[in-house]
Amino acid sequence: MRVTFVAEAVPGRPNEDFVAATADAAVLLDGAGTPPGSESGCSHGVAWFSRSLGSTLLTSMAQGTGTLTELLAQGIKTVASLHDGTCDLNHPGSPSATVIMLRHTNDMLEWLVLADSVLVLDVVNAAEPMAICDDREAQVGALHRTEMDALASGTDEHVSAHRRYVETLRSYRNRDGGFWVAATDPLAADQALTGNMPANQIRAAALLSDGASRLVDRFHLHTWSHVLDVLEQSGPDEVIRQVRAAEHSDPQGARWPRGKTFDDATALYCRC
Ligand SMILES: [Zn+2]
Repeated sequence: MRVTFVAEAVPGRPNEDFVAATADAAVLLDGAGTPPGSESGCSHGVAWFSRSLGSTLLTSMAQGTGTLTELLAQGIKTVASLHDGTCDLNHPGSPSATVIMLRHTNDMLEWLVLADSVLVLDVVNAAEPMAICDDREAQVGALHRTEMDALASGTDEHVSAHRRYVETLRSYRNRDGGFWVAATDPLAADQALTGNMPANQIRAAALLSDGASRLVDRFHLHTWSHVLDVLEQSGPDEVIRQVRAAEHSDPQGARWPRGKTFDDATALYCRC
């Protein structure tokens, strides 16, 4: 695989996305933030969690044994063991992350997608790219975001409403009928979307955190097909540049109501 990526944090904050790759494997995680004034029970923070789990997963993929689901379950356990002596892992706000894993082995491409990061596959002879995303959090979130979306981004009222929204969603986290993310419960791995295909059937793959995929799935400025074209012709930098331009064009969220005016944005493009 030929891999390029860009991970751009919101200026002035630690990057809670994590991306890494080898010639045969890629991982992308998007840590769920702890809004100002909110507790998490963890002294390490969300960026630490994403980096720890992401690097653990890439190491285990490089060693090459086990299904992606098994590797994710083991990775969740490993990271929990790094801080169960110092942090309250039963706290409902303990750090969590979305996960995409992509692995090339024995002429097959395998993937795993947990929560709302997006994997886009450019499949040979398909009319449209295949976008794989677990949207259960968005479905639950839609029931609770009316108040937040009605307020102008950047105001104190919006910040408070966003914190309440995040805290409300915690009660749905890693529960049947709610949504599943990588946090402290290894059973979340069983909830991931998985698949595989002969590698020669896939021209390219894009891994996007929701800070990058918002160009398509929140702003509706482009199609997945267009994003693949931009990645092919200009690379991940250009996708992130277009995301930032759109965010700057709507600083108060009037056109596109959103929890975060700017978000960590990560795009990885892989030619298979
Ligand atoms: Zn901790």
